[in-house]
Amino acid sequence: MLHRATAAVAARARGGECLVSYRLKVNPIMCKAHGLCAELLPEFIDRDPWGYPIVPDEPVPHDLEDLSRRAAATCPTLALIVSKGRR
Ligand code: SF4
Repeated sequence: MLHRATAAVAARARGGECLVSYRLKVNPIMCKAHGLCAELLPEFIDRDPWGYPIVPDEPVPHDLEDLSRRAAATCPTLALIVSKGRR
């Protein structure tokens, strides 16, 4: 996993503080409210009354990054997008 190695190198460069963060976004046109993402990542993704995901506009907590990538990869319509940025 290149991104994990990159994050580790960046963290070492800052004395342990990780410089890379991940955010989740939902493409509302492609999302079909399957709810799979919220089932895989209930600690971060909530659902509205119609089943559409509610994703916080904040970085994914470090311990949930692997699960967030898995949720995005599992989305049947590829509506869940992971983006990488700097903290
Ligand atoms: S898994 Fe994909 S299509 Fe289903 S609710 Fe989540 S983002 Fe929408």
